Amino acid sequence: MRVLKFGGTSVATAEALQQVVQIIQGEVASNGPCMVVASATAGTTNKLLQAATLAPYRCEDARQILAHIADDHHTLAREVIDSGSLLHDTLEHIDAHIQRALDLVDSLHVLQEWTEQSSDALVMTGELLSTTILAALLQGWSTPVSLIPATELLQTDDAFGAATVHFPASQEQCRRRLLPVLREGMSVVTQGFIGATADGLPTTLGRGGSDASASILGACVAAEEVQIWTDVSGVYSADPRLIPTARPISSLHVGEIRELALYGAKVVHPEAILPALEAGIRVRILNTFAPQDEGTVITNITNDAEHHGPLHGPLHGPLHAVSAVQNCVVMQDAPTDGLPLPCLLELHTVDHSVKVFQPTTAEQRLLVGTAPTVAVLCIVGPAAVHNATLHILGDALQEIDVLATVMGTSPWAVYAVVPQSQCLQALQQVHTLLGS
Ligand code: ADP
Ligand code: ASP
Ligand code: MG
Repeated sequence: MRVLKFGGTSVATAEALQQVVQIIQGEVASNGPCMVVASATAGTTNKLLQAATLAPYRCEDARQILAHIADDHHTLAREVIDSGSLLHDTLEHIDAHIQRALDLVDSLHVLQEWTEQSSDALVMTGELLSTTILAALLQGWSTPVSLIPATELLQTDDAFGAATVHFPASQEQCRRRLLPVLREGMSVVTQGFIGATADGLPTTLGRGGSDASASILGACVAAEEVQIWTDVSGVYSADPRLIPTARPISSLHVGEIRELALYGAKVVHPEAILPALEAGIRVRILNTFAPQDEGTVITNITNDAEHHGPLHGPLHGPLHAVSAVQNCVVMQDAPTDGLPLPCLLELHTVDHSVKVFQPTTAEQRLLVGTAPTVAVLCIVGPAAVHNATLHILGDALQEIDVLATVMGTSPWAVYAVVPQSQCLQALQQVHTLLGS
């Protein structure tokens, strides 16, 4: 049995959903029932987070956002579901989820309260809506399917906004809730990103957390494979939006992908893959819009020439890919007043050390003031941590005012800190190196 996870863009339009149905039907025809994990439609989680922030003081604005989300999902449901009664039921379910969200917004307004807990309870609406439509669409195509809420499958701690899954409890819940359904020959649709505490309070696993849901659910049910279906054909040698010549990599070590994801490559959640790999489950990243493409296999096998095989095309060799975190700042220490600021790297010289921080919110950007803006490039490969890599990098980045090159924080990556204004040029130059 396989777990198929579909990201936000894969469920956001009628065309994408038709592709998704074909992929699921192909899977069921070839391998039997599967487990489908879906994200909220692209952009919806951001809107819901905004609604949660507005609810305590600008309740009408928050309600407006929910009204737009309701409209979008009604339109999507109408575009993909033909049958009168199935469509009618689906629209009713959408309305019920929206009504619950509106009631929550009203409560937050009365209490003038924003907490991570209340935010999670609202934000989960996105995944509830997308899976309602997807499950109905599959039913419409006569695929035997059961929609099971992820709150009944994944048990988490109460770190709202970034909850951690309690594996043994979740495995037990999955055994009870999922296995009987799968044994009856039905596929299961559930939400990514969300879970619930032992007391049943809804939680979320952090942004991009649907990848983690898929990986953990795969481990819970001892799946044969976890497939992460997204809008690109696997992990590329660089973000294809920044470097159009970037190419998909057929196989990457989990250590490499984790570093890429921590340092700007949004393609997969940094902590997502390990639970499945540790359970011995193969993880593949595939393209919903080009399902015939090979994609990327993530492996945890080290020193295996086959698994660290060459990139497609002319790129080959010990350096596989490059990513970048942009608009960072270099400071002695994080400002003590205000919100915690994630530290990306520490740079040590003989007589002092400085840190690179990544301000992500407007408040954090205000706090860091006029500190110089830099980008951190992360270059990964099985042989990345090697003096030769620093020489090669030095040669390639001759025209860039490199502030520092760093190695030693991971066996899979070296990092270069460059002025933000030269980030793209540095990325392009490093990209030409890959394979050398
Ligand atoms: P999903 O909604 O399916 O979870 P995401 O938007 O989270 O998809 O991740 C896919 C996106 O990640 C791609 O559209 C791509 O722009 C971006 N990305 C960044 N770096 C890379 C990379 N090295 N390889 C592939 N995609 C990357
Ligand atoms: N919908 C959530 C987000 O946008 C989770 C995910 O897409 O993985 O972060
Ligand atoms: Mg994602």
